[in-house]
Amino acid sequence: MNNIAEQLRLAYQNIKQNCQQLHIINDSVQLIAVSKTKPVADILTAYQAGQRKFAENYPQELADKQQLLAEKADIEWHFIGPLQSNKTRLVAQSAAWVHSIDRLKIAKRLAEQRPESLGKLKVLIQINISKEASKSGIAPDMMLELAEQISALPQLELKGLMAIPKAKDDNAETGPDFLAMQHLSTQLQQHYPDATELSMGMSNDWPIALKNGATMIRLGTVIFGKRDKNEE
Ligand SMILES: *Cc1c(COP(=O)(O)O)cnc(C)c1O
Repeated sequence: MNNIAEQLRLAYQNIKQNCQQLHIINDSVQLIAVSKTKPVADILTAYQAGQRKFAENYPQELADKQQLLAEKADIEWHFIGPLQSNKTRLVAQSAAWVHSIDRLKIAKRLAEQRPESLGKLKVLIQINISKEASKSGIAPDMMLELAEQISALPQLELKGLMAIPKAKDDNAETGPDFLAMQHLSTQLQQHYPDATELSMGMSNDWPIALKNGATMIRLGTVIFGKRDKNEE
């Protein structure tokens, strides 16, 4: 068995074991394979091993890969990177999900540019939960306002929240920022019962994310291996 297929198998197994320990229903957790900077051949390898959900960070790269793999119509593409106004069309035409909505302007453009034939674009609001200047996302207290604005756009479907909680700090074990995200998610669902998704957790912290209610785990390195830093 090749490496990517084996890494995928292990990741699913690990997630399943963690779910069992935490008494989480395994079906409610999705593994999104983050293929940014990796060649289409690697995506195909993962596809052949059964993976269908892939995530990209760069609009042009997403659009290119989606085109190259258009025959694999059952691939579900997720966009998880920062999004500028001049790149929204690429994403609106290629993605099924956008995790990184952090302002109304971007949401509006995506809504306008979404081809009707593709159905609603599923979106998550990105929260800058660890208040890092380098990270995108809105402050937690802006969440409900943006949620209300997004839910007024019929071409978009608000599905939940996304965050990149600070990876390593003194509280890495308890993960206060992960817990804060779980609370925000609960709060959002009180207003929007269908916005149940919580996208958080990466290769080095996904067990903490899972423990704190993550429903979408975004794994790159543990599936596809290290990325070339120069490409990022
Ligand atoms: C790159 C990236 C990931 C995957 O990171 P790994 O540490 O390689 O698993 C997940 N989420 C976002 C937003 C990313 O940019």
